[in-house]
Amino acid sequence: MTMTYEGVNRQAVAELVDVLGAERVVVTPQGRLIRAMVPAPFPFHRWADEAPEIAVLPETTDEVVAIVKLANRLRIPIVPRAGATGLNDGAKPNRGGIVVDTKRMNKVLEIDTTDWTVTIQPSINMLKLNERLAPYGVWYPDDPASYPVSIVSGRIGTGGWSLLGSRYGHVRDNVISMEVVLPTGEVLEVGQGGGRKIRHSSTGYRLKDLFLGHQGTLGIATQATLELYPRPEAEFPAFFGYESFDAGYRAMQPFCRSNLATLAGVILFDERKVQYLRRDDEAYIPEPESLQSIVAVAAYGSEGEVAAARDRLMRIGAETGGRYLGEELSELDWASRHDRYATPLHGRSRDRAVHMSWHCEDAAITYSQLPFVKQRWHEIADRYIAEHEVFDNWGMFFYTNNAYKGWGDFLVEIDIGIWEQRLDEDSWRAWTNLKREITQVSLDAGGSISACHGATREGEVELVPAELGGQFDLMLKLKRMLDPNNIMNPGKYLLDQAYEDGEG
Ligand SMILES: Cc1cc2nc3c(=O)[nH]c(=O)nc-3n(C[C@H](O)[C@H](O)[C@H](O)COP(=O)(O)OP(=O)(O)OC[C@H]3O[C@@H](n4cnc5c(N)ncnc54)[C@H](O)[C@@H]3O)c2cc1C
Repeated sequence: MTMTYEGVNRQAVAELVDVLGAERVVVTPQGRLIRAMVPAPFPFHRWADEAPEIAVLPETTDEVVAIVKLANRLRIPIVPRAGATGLNDGAKPNRGGIVVDTKRMNKVLEIDTTDWTVTIQPSINMLKLNERLAPYGVWYPDDPASYPVSIVSGRIGTGGWSLLGSRYGHVRDNVISMEVVLPTGEVLEVGQGGGRKIRHSSTGYRLKDLFLGHQGTLGIATQATLELYPRPEAEFPAFFGYESFDAGYRAMQPFCRSNLATLAGVILFDERKVQYLRRDDEAYIPEPESLQSIVAVAAYGSEGEVAAARDRLMRIGAETGGRYLGEELSELDWASRHDRYATPLHGRSRDRAVHMSWHCEDAAITYSQLPFVKQRWHEIADRYIAEHEVFDNWGMFFYTNNAYKGWGDFLVEIDIGIWEQRLDEDSWRAWTNLKREITQVSLDAGGSISACHGATREGEVELVPAELGGQFDLMLKLKRMLDPNNIMNPGKYLLDQAYEDGEG
């Protein structure tokens, strides 16, 4: 192996090579730099500062245990990494150290068609997993927009949200149990209480949730048992246009409360999102200017149920004054949900088309507060855009946010185009201030800072204690207890505060 980087901890490299072999211990500059890359906006001039010193590619739980024990003994930071599509920098090292790139832990261990579970090494993505499950007539329905590229273990790390959650639940509902390597190297089986296929138990505390959404700060998931569902026989998406945001906002409620078990999601696009679609998506160009908001709905299930849902949803659309946008637009737009934001898009700056990439901020907000949050977020974004040509406003949407139902709070997202090549210290500062201001609005509205990505980045992480109150103090105690040496993804979620008395 060629040592090309002077900062590498040579003792750690030598021990890691003993465990993994030289080809699975990466110290080359490009191998390290690529593992500092995430899709969240990034000031390029700082890239090299964020690279790990070593990246490792384990294939088994025993190898992960050996890596974690070594890191704990030598007090080297360790960062779990899956698909690296997380939008909150979770998989980016804040303190260098070792990135544990888990992508080779992608085996399907058991497909159980009697008790309807699948047990996997969790670094497989949902697309590949479902290809394996298809011959059995079952599927794992986690469906983020990043479906083909994010990985089950990263979904566990963020506790992510699914586009089909109102019908099939979200990650927290569909991971039944896990094997986790704790920061000290111990292996913990964590689930609903009992065996790894038990979905409901009333014994003890519900600890499973602690290990879903911790952003790699409490351990590394090395195995997971997941829920299976019958593959849907039919799906029905429908898009309805309204002449104002208010009309679309009012129409959402009857759709959300339609009493349809097949309802997978309801989405409201605001007028700025419609403007953006009309500008950048040719399917929307023929739509009349009077179209100011869109409500999109989707139903999944058996053929008979979906046929009945179709009739009811079309009736609600008509009764609320919605204009059905037609089969072609409805089906194609729904089908593009996995790739809409994946490619860099062109944005606008001072009426010029420039190369921008997509970024978003999200929050969980109750229905009653959506108009307030929408107005304030746009005001804030537009103020920064007026001063900084690197930003563009790509509109907002509001999406059902709860498992197995259409009501409750909503995932609110504002999409911002960023001309990343031009992001310098000044505009980076502006971006984090923008985030902080819109995060404060979410808290003012009684909401949560994030509905699905987590809140570990500069600009929002500072407000986490304000949202969580006493729960944040408990987080600090738990972190200190499980990770006495602060080696597991340190620097995230202000958890360093757990060690501020100098011990540990
Ligand atoms: C175009 C696009 C669309 C998106 N749409 C959605 C969406 O609809 N819904 C949604 O929820 N998210 C969405 N995301 C965000 C992203 O896909 C999710 O955050 C995803 O859950 C992260 O998965 P990943 O495999 O990329 O994990 P990574 O980004 O690699 O890691 C995410 C976090 O998990 C931790 N982690 C990784 N592996 C492990 C492990 N084995 N054990 C413990 N912790 C671990 C990491 O340290 C990190 O903190 C989108 C992202 C993009 C780029």
